[in-house]
Amino acid sequence: MKKYNFFAGPAILAPEVISEAAKAVENFTNMNLSLLEISHRSAEFVAVLEEAEALTRELLEIGDDYAVVFLTGGASSQFYMAPMNLLGSKETAGYVNTGTWSTKAIKEVSNFGTVTEVASSKDRSFCYIPKDYSISESLRYLHITSNNTISGTEYHVIPETEVPLVADMSSNIFSREVDISKYDMIYAGAQKNLGPAGVTLVIVKKAALGKVGRKIPTMLNYQTHIDKGSSFNTPPVYPIYVSMLTLRWIKRNGGVAEMAKRNDAKATALYQEIDRNSLFYGTAEVEDRSRMNVCFRLHDESKEATFLDFAESRNLVGLKGHRSVGGFRASIYNAMELEGVTKLVQAMADFEAANV
Ligand code: PMP
Repeated sequence: MKKYNFFAGPAILAPEVISEAAKAVENFTNMNLSLLEISHRSAEFVAVLEEAEALTRELLEIGDDYAVVFLTGGASSQFYMAPMNLLGSKETAGYVNTGTWSTKAIKEVSNFGTVTEVASSKDRSFCYIPKDYSISESLRYLHITSNNTISGTEYHVIPETEVPLVADMSSNIFSREVDISKYDMIYAGAQKNLGPAGVTLVIVKKAALGKVGRKIPTMLNYQTHIDKGSSFNTPPVYPIYVSMLTLRWIKRNGGVAEMAKRNDAKATALYQEIDRNSLFYGTAEVEDRSRMNVCFRLHDESKEATFLDFAESRNLVGLKGHRSVGGFRASIYNAMELEGVTKLVQAMADFEAANV
């Protein structure tokens, strides 16, 4: 029986990606060896790495003035690697606090320089994206979390400033077009819109590096990984391969512009039902609603477990909200088809019919 996977991450991957990934475990490119047991320096894997980088550049229109590397340590390691590599000890970085992940990112910065929280939506449980605030031109960079996986908010317009942006795009990378020139750096854990857990994509402006004047441990220095084409040490071979397969899948399906169209259609269908259905309500401000993580609740919270069971009985899985906020969260990343959203909408309507 087909399951509709709404988990927030690790998360849904396209069925073709999963089946090709499975084949590579048995026999990779007719080598009669598993991808899991070949050298990361073999010509076959080097080709994977090169294609993953080339597709990332092509899909996001990234020029040669930016480096693209695949690292380990999760997006959480970028919370400290970004300021370590980009922020001088006498400089100040601005952060917009839009939730749990921004809060964690902010906590790391003072190890390296000064941090100022330019705006926050903590006053209302991170249900919105702050807008009217001033951004000092003297900031080294402004950090944003482009999509907030837990509270279900997303930037639909990026802050207007000449200050370079640094963005955690873990949960909406490759979901729409991005003007790379606004950013000094973008990072994303793969396990939502790209591949399995274990690899983190980092896109960094080359000219932004080498300026902080501090000693950076070799493995934590972006330049190390840039110079060695993401193979200074053993890279996460399998997650990179599966990410490459996803990038091929995105390209075959029309690229990020087409992903954006599909994501808009899915999110619109789901929010329409949330707004129509008398039992449910959305938790994020309407104008800041995420197209990736749709967060909602029942007015009658005592029925939440019942709805989760009802959804599971229809093969709709992974709908439980993050443990810190409760309620429901439907993560509808690129690989979720409209069909899955339609099934969820139907389940919500049927649940309403049975409960009013
Ligand atoms: N940033 C965002 C927006 C996330 O959603 C997550 C993970 N859910 C992280 C950072 C942390 O990522 P990781 O677990 O790869 O360290």
